[in-house]
Amino acid sequence: MTDTTAAARPQGFDTLAVHAGAKADPATGARQVPIYQTTAYQFRDADHAARLFNLQEVGYIYSRLTNPTVSALQDRIAALEGGAGAVCCSSGHAAQILALLPLMGPGLNIVASTRLYGGTVTQFGQTIRRFGWSATFVDLDDEAAVRAAIDENTRAIFVESISNPGGYVTDIPAIARIADEAGIPLIVDNTLASPYLCRPIEHGATLVVHSLTKYLTGNGTVTGGVVVDSGRFDWSASDRFPSLSQPEAAYHGLNFHQTFGAAAFTFHGIAIGLRDLGMTLNPQAAHYTLMGVETLALRMPRHVANAVAAAEYLAGHDGVAAVSYAGLPDSPWHDRAARLYPKGAGALFTVQLKGGYDACVRFIGALKLFSHVANLGDARSLAIHSASTTHRQLTGDQQVAAGAGPDVVRLSIGIEDPADIIADLEQALAAAG
Ligand code: PLP
Repeated sequence: MTDTTAAARPQGFDTLAVHAGAKADPATGARQVPIYQTTAYQFRDADHAARLFNLQEVGYIYSRLTNPTVSALQDRIAALEGGAGAVCCSSGHAAQILALLPLMGPGLNIVASTRLYGGTVTQFGQTIRRFGWSATFVDLDDEAAVRAAIDENTRAIFVESISNPGGYVTDIPAIARIADEAGIPLIVDNTLASPYLCRPIEHGATLVVHSLTKYLTGNGTVTGGVVVDSGRFDWSASDRFPSLSQPEAAYHGLNFHQTFGAAAFTFHGIAIGLRDLGMTLNPQAAHYTLMGVETLALRMPRHVANAVAAAEYLAGHDGVAAVSYAGLPDSPWHDRAARLYPKGAGALFTVQLKGGYDACVRFIGALKLFSHVANLGDARSLAIHSASTTHRQLTGDQQVAAGAGPDVVRLSIGIEDPADIIADLEQALAAAG
């Protein structure tokens, strides 16, 4: 039955989370998106194959580039973020490289926040140098410093909407204005907020990246990533993005922007990024993430409510020196979070213990409901000592700047009964002394 009234009006977020990108399988009627566990797709004839390879016709060739299960997930996440298109890949870290590849070249740089996930600081501070790329890290609250860090070789600004782990909230509209003035894209890692809490494109972001590993899958089963393009950046406005705006030798001279318009970045991500870097998401993982996204709008409010309850409890405890969470009224970023993320400031924060490093170790050792793991955004509550794990490769100054000093524990609050979460924190704090 076709409901024309429903088709005429834009669907709400919760509906898109369940339906976007999916339809009953044309071959079998299967209502859930099938796991297309196939490497290749049979061509109708030689002309069909040639048209697909020339990008004159959109279709499936080989699962390193495209796969119907992965495509459904791409379309769903693009819809949730309000983007023109999305490309999934094998991890959040892969998504960052996939987002940068069309923009960068030897000698070029990005400007990045000092308050980023530790693995990203290492990826940008060390590893990308092997490609001849570099990153300048700045405090995003110092807008003059952000402007000063941009030079003629800067090709993007990279930020996290909510930072891991320090509870910092980026003023995305302010940074987007700076990127606009400089004629460069703003890339927002929206992993900690998820599109349920924040849609960076509405605040001026050009590209959004995610680790699917976290809230979008939501149950700790998948390692994956995605790059969403707003479709709004004019890649041809300057000669700074030749791979998108000029004939690209890696695709027999195709001009992606001229040919695909708002879909240029997405086509480039598949036709060159996935083709040549090979950082593909497998269909089984895409299936798990599709299942997770269906319940995103139910899970996120519970994550946030539990995080507020846990943070309030901890902030009032004698053994706690500070809680860094923008959901608490005394956070320096509380008002900004309330303005940009009215549905909540996420469910990841740090707690600083008065007993310092030793108390952190005893506290983590005593937790029972919380799992001691290097992940976040799981339905389960998780804890980790960032300075000795996720942020270990950083210098002491970098750890403190990222909000991951030696006397803090990072908590990712799950969707369990809040009374059980607080009871576990209470007994662990007692054990920590
Ligand atoms: N971005 C953020 C904010 C993260 O917390 C992480 C991982 O913890 C990543 C990116 C990297 O994601 P992945 O582990 O899926 O590569």
